[in-house]
Amino acid sequence: VDGLTGLFNRDYFQTMLRQEFLNSQRHGRDLAVILADIDHFKGVNDDWGHDAGDQALRHMSTLLKQRLRVTDSVGRLGGEEFGVLLRNTDSDRAANLIEALRVQIVSTPLQYGEDIVPLSATFGLAEWPHDGRTSNELYRCADKRLYLGKSRGRNQLVGRDYRGAEMPAHSLNPSL
Ligand code: GH3
Ligand code: MG
Ligand code: MG
Repeated sequence: VDGLTGLFNRDYFQTMLRQEFLNSQRHGRDLAVILADIDHFKGVNDDWGHDAGDQALRHMSTLLKQRLRVTDSVGRLGGEEFGVLLRNTDSDRAANLIEALRVQIVSTPLQYGEDIVPLSATFGLAEWPHDGRTSNELYRCADKRLYLGKSRGRNQLVGRDYRGAEMPAHSLNPSL
């Protein structure tokens, strides 16, 4: 468990991803993998200090946990990057849920003493079975979409149906 946020740490998250992937395959259930990264987080540390940055990370963790079901898994993968696993969730439901979370983050800034610290995050969404044959491929697909969202201006969700200028999925996975 991650000490600052109480979320699962990177190693544990990766283990859960592999397990959930096998379960989803075995039972033919959907699985959504979401990677999230706080936008311009370096600026939060620079403008308000490292302590405000730490509070922003805890604030973000609280919002993530509030939105998700007990059966979903949230991890802090490092720095200001988070991972979410949504079991039994198809891409439409996953996208709706994450989009609601994205809006909530923007409308719930961190109150830091007298100051209001605005926060936003960018999200990459990948789902089994559409976006990869292995848990690694799913993860890489979500990561690629996260960075696409960064390059397209941040504070957004990028998934299969939100592809825009993204490379076609078959360039990642020739069999699909
Ligand atoms: P982008 O929108 O592209 O994601 O920009 P960014 O500034 O969020 O990304 P960048 O990777 O440049 O900076 C991440 C910063 O996160 C750098 C580091 O100082 C800060 N950081 C990482 N871990 C912690 C932490 O545990 N506490 C605090 N306060 N800051 C952290
Ligand atoms: Mg960032
Ligand atoms: Mg980062």
